Amino acid sequence: MKERSPYLRNLKMVEQMHRWPRERVRAYQEERLRALVRHATEQTDYYRDLFAAAGITPEQIYTQDDLQRVPFLTKDAIRANMARMVARNVPTTELVQKKTSGSTGVSLELFVDEASCQWKRGVTIAYDRWSGWDIGERVGAIWGNPECYQNWRMYLRNLLLVRHVYLDTLKMDEPTMRAFHGKLLKKQPVILFGHAHSLFLFTRFMEQRGLAGIHPQGIISTCMVLHDFERQAIERVFGCRVTNRYGCEEVSLIACECPAGQMHLNCDTLMVEFVRDDKPVPSGAPGAIVVTDLSNYGMPMIRYKVGDVGRLSVGKDCPCGCSYPVLDALEGRVADYVVTPDGQYISGISLTENFAMQLPGVKQMQIVQEERDRLLFRLVRGEQFSEQTLQDIDRLAQQRFGNRMAYQLEYVDSIQSEDSGKYRFCISRLPNPFS
Ligand SMILES: [Zn+2]
Repeated sequence: MKERSPYLRNLKMVEQMHRWPRERVRAYQEERLRALVRHATEQTDYYRDLFAAAGITPEQIYTQDDLQRVPFLTKDAIRANMARMVARNVPTTELVQKKTSGSTGVSLELFVDEASCQWKRGVTIAYDRWSGWDIGERVGAIWGNPECYQNWRMYLRNLLLVRHVYLDTLKMDEPTMRAFHGKLLKKQPVILFGHAHSLFLFTRFMEQRGLAGIHPQGIISTCMVLHDFERQAIERVFGCRVTNRYGCEEVSLIACECPAGQMHLNCDTLMVEFVRDDKPVPSGAPGAIVVTDLSNYGMPMIRYKVGDVGRLSVGKDCPCGCSYPVLDALEGRVADYVVTPDGQYISGISLTENFAMQLPGVKQMQIVQEERDRLLFRLVRGEQFSEQTLQDIDRLAQQRFGNRMAYQLEYVDSIQSEDSGKYRFCISRLPNPFS
């Protein structure tokens, strides 16, 4: 209140919207979509020219289905057109700069206006409350990747509202993790918050060292795909539920898990589509995630390809009472797919569990696809590595990719993380229907 920020008012609005029937939510989104499209074409050169080149007028974009007529926005297009995408009628002082490291290591810069930030802040708090946290309660954070730093930075702006204990994921060595455990013991945060994989690493560290005594009410896992085995380990060690969420620096939260365990799409600030070969896919089928940010007028983002693949649920209403559509599965990065010689697409995330984890002799692994019929397996050998491991690799390769796929092995000492600190399990150099 002191800060005179509208986000607490926004929070109230968002929590009401979660109870609206689905049709009303959709109608509200489409109303905001029309306003956004009108604004973008009137106030930016980029969208004015884009609509003219595509032969469409803003009036033709009336519903979510109409949106398919608008060309996609890619990271390359943002890099090439940033100045032309910024709205003329939004003062520079109202623009907040965002920077992502990007999956290819090439960074991306963009702007979000202040009002949009306030909306997203309200939205994030609404979802934080789903996991048992409330304003003013202490948070323990395992963080460090600048790509998804934004929500956390918002928190840090007001230490009166959020008190925190912090572990930098770039320094997760023995003494730092021990010290963090000590701090958590003393402060006992209500919620733990962090990247899926970092939370898991810290959990495993605690388990291996026999450390315990941390009792949060909930844990929020974000930024990366959370594997079932990671969730199980984290829930076992801390004795509470893990809430999974998904988002990116460019548009903030995209989906968040509710108390009933469903990942609801963020309809508060976004319109989300799923496409393959640039066409919409039906619910239940994997598609590249495309978002339109309904709240950012400073630099409109219409049909932005985030770079991840997911599936929309075909299920019915969620028992939690929120009517927002549910994301069934997040399959990982667009680039993290292997295609078999038969044309079948296998996501890196499923390969982690159905390939790498079946190989006890392999400490770490990376799959690189250079050709349609040839893979490279980079392996960090573990203590149990033996002739049997090689046979297992051969059997699994046949099962997963068919007998027309050749592979090569490369033994390495370690597999490097990307600049962002993320480790990529699967890298493909082939054209991809989701990109
Ligand atoms: Zn729900």
